[in-house]
Amino acid sequence: MKPSRAKPKQTAQALRLIELAQALNESSSRLEDDFWDVRLTTEVNQLLAFGKKDANSAQAVENTLTTVLEPLYQDTSMAYSALVGTIESCIESKTWPASMAPDVAKHGPKDSSQDTLLIAIPILAWSRFPIPRGGIPLPLLKEFRQLLQTHILASNVKLSLCNQLFSPDQLPQTYVAAALFADQVMQAARLDSDLAIKIKESSDNTRFLSDSRYLIAAICAPKNTAGTLLFRWQEEADGKDAAEKEAIAKEVIKQETPGKMSPAALSAWVEACKKPLAALLPACAFELQPVKAYHAALLAADRASRPWSINAAVAFLHTLLNHAPDALFAVVARFQDGDEDEYRISLILRGSRTVVYGVIWPLLPSEEESGSMTTDITAALNAAGVSKVVLLDRIFPIEYCDDCGAALYPDAEGEVVHIEWPEDQDQGSMRHLH
Ligand SMILES: [Zn+2]
Repeated sequence: MKPSRAKPKQTAQALRLIELAQALNESSSRLEDDFWDVRLTTEVNQLLAFGKKDANSAQAVENTLTTVLEPLYQDTSMAYSALVGTIESCIESKTWPASMAPDVAKHGPKDSSQDTLLIAIPILAWSRFPIPRGGIPLPLLKEFRQLLQTHILASNVKLSLCNQLFSPDQLPQTYVAAALFADQVMQAARLDSDLAIKIKESSDNTRFLSDSRYLIAAICAPKNTAGTLLFRWQEEADGKDAAEKEAIAKEVIKQETPGKMSPAALSAWVEACKKPLAALLPACAFELQPVKAYHAALLAADRASRPWSINAAVAFLHTLLNHAPDALFAVVARFQDGDEDEYRISLILRGSRTVVYGVIWPLLPSEEESGSMTTDITAALNAAGVSKVVLLDRIFPIEYCDDCGAALYPDAEGEVVHIEWPEDQDQGSMRHLH
């Protein structure tokens, strides 16, 4: 979450957090890291616990975190990443002592404390129709549970899968809200039962051509002194026998990246998910993203959604308006205003000045623009079949249309213009998909 620009005054607690984050960042050894990490984690956990009490506490805690993160973010210091990493980890993972086991007889030996982790399975989708979200029918929920157990989770890992397909605006929007939500799902994971949750129907009905959706779950495994076994790939790396290790050393068989699904396992998982995902997302093109811990999954999906939205726009223009990718060229410029920092990409018919479609490529929190971003954007456009790309060097102020609020896009002459549909194409509601 990017800190807002509001600047509440610093409290002693905020200063303590800043000091600990800076100390953790300055540390030069794993031993010293651990020292600061324990203290920082304790502070953050206390703060989050206080925030969960009521709405006023939640607001106070959110303000404190903003106060702390803002100056660190401005410095783009590594201490910012250290603190955000700690906050996210405190939200998405928790160790439950053995004495707190929900039902010892049913849920495992008494001497074992348990680790729980909130995970997300992002899906990128695009469609000319509204992309579905909301309740997942029970048979599909059961199918996804089975698939996660077969392809992703280590044996005997307990699971709670939320019965909702979330859109980004339906996910918790503050740290405290995320912590409350995570607690609920992690509690259910300890009981190995799926979770029925209610989502307030959002007033945000903005439709996008492409968007992300999320399956959210929590997993629970016995804590082990040698490390907790959560995912199948951990189990596989651990389970290699001597003959296999020997064969890898002699390069008889190829070493696969540890900590990652093997290409074969990945394609089996993706293939198995196709049918249930198609049932959840009818009339959509979609791409399953890697299963990760909640915050890492969201960040990875935000990254992947940028080239995905370029692909979606090019495919949309091709299939619906019959403009082949090589009939288009792109103009790319950076737009900036306070906290907002993004590239806007115009798709223009060759031989004309009309911007027929625009795509926004946001810079993500703590992502520094070192000039390589335009290389990534050009590569994504090229991969989508748009070979001619014009990069404008000046930075434009963020601008929206006064009438309809749509983002404005740069044309090849460096003017900022409105998207225009070709006159003979009546796309009805698609007109408002900016
Ligand atoms: Zn307008």
